[in-house]
Amino acid sequence: MGTPPQLTPAERASALAKAKASRQERSAVKSRIKSGELSISEVIALAQSNEVIAKMRVLEMVESKSGVGKIRGKALLEKLDISSTRRIQGLGRYQRAALLKEFELPTSLRRGKLIVLSGPGGVGKSTVAKKLREASDFVVIVSATTRPARFNEVAGVDYHYLTATQFDAAVKNNEFLEWAEFAGARYGTPRLPVETALSAGQSVLLEIEIEGAKQVKEKIPESVLVFLEPPSWEELVSRLEGRGTDSAERRASRLALAQEELAAASFFDKVLVNDEVEKVVASLIELASA
Ligand code: 5GP
Repeated sequence: MGTPPQLTPAERASALAKAKASRQERSAVKSRIKSGELSISEVIALAQSNEVIAKMRVLEMVESKSGVGKIRGKALLEKLDISSTRRIQGLGRYQRAALLKEFELPTSLRRGKLIVLSGPGGVGKSTVAKKLREASDFVVIVSATTRPARFNEVAGVDYHYLTATQFDAAVKNNEFLEWAEFAGARYGTPRLPVETALSAGQSVLLEIEIEGAKQVKEKIPESVLVFLEPPSWEELVSRLEGRGTDSAERRASRLALAQEELAAASFFDKVLVNDEVEKVVASLIELASA
């Protein structure tokens, strides 16, 4: 073995900066794999032209996939006869094919997309959800709530109306994917219909408030959070005030809440302005097929 080359301080600094940039790029790729934005086949394709990705370990790529993790990742590589220190650029032809086969399921077996539509109360989420249900094969999940039904609502269609005791029991039995309190009532997404539809490859829409959206993202990182914004604050106020179905007190508390909610848009994957319902619906359909 020869002695390591002597680097000048400038060369050392530049090597360190390069290593840092590579680490950052690798970690960005891993989070894109995790969110489902990049598939395994796309990463392998990118490795042809990107040195940082080419040098990434296959294990790192595989374990970044949502639902795989370290233990399953290792087991999977063992099954495919790929060494855990192998880098993407070092994959043989058969190993590459085996990996692609493992991860690229036929459409019929592919999980559906979960889209979470959120935004301030009164912005028109439920109108969008209704139109989407009519215009596409999206499964729009019916939530549970403890608030009383409005005169124009139908049990089982708009919501499952539960008593506080029934809601408590559902929480205790872990029946909700998420639940949150909003304007003095509780709202929750039933877990089972979401899982069933996603496993069948169907696109799913949840129309829920912001706290719930955060919880869904934590549990299902590949979900896409969409924030629906009013064309203007004035428009939102007039929509909430024109809502004859709520008491004055409830409308006032909703306005205050809406103000807080508007400030929360930053952690969403996508912001859509609700100036035209049809346009929003088309964007959601496009997101699901992306
Ligand atoms: P509303 O009482 O006007 O029907 O709904 C009040 C708020 O609760 C809306 O922002 C609506 O999106 C949200 N919401 C409806 N269902 C759910 C749910 O299952 N979970 C959560 N977290 N929020 C929900």
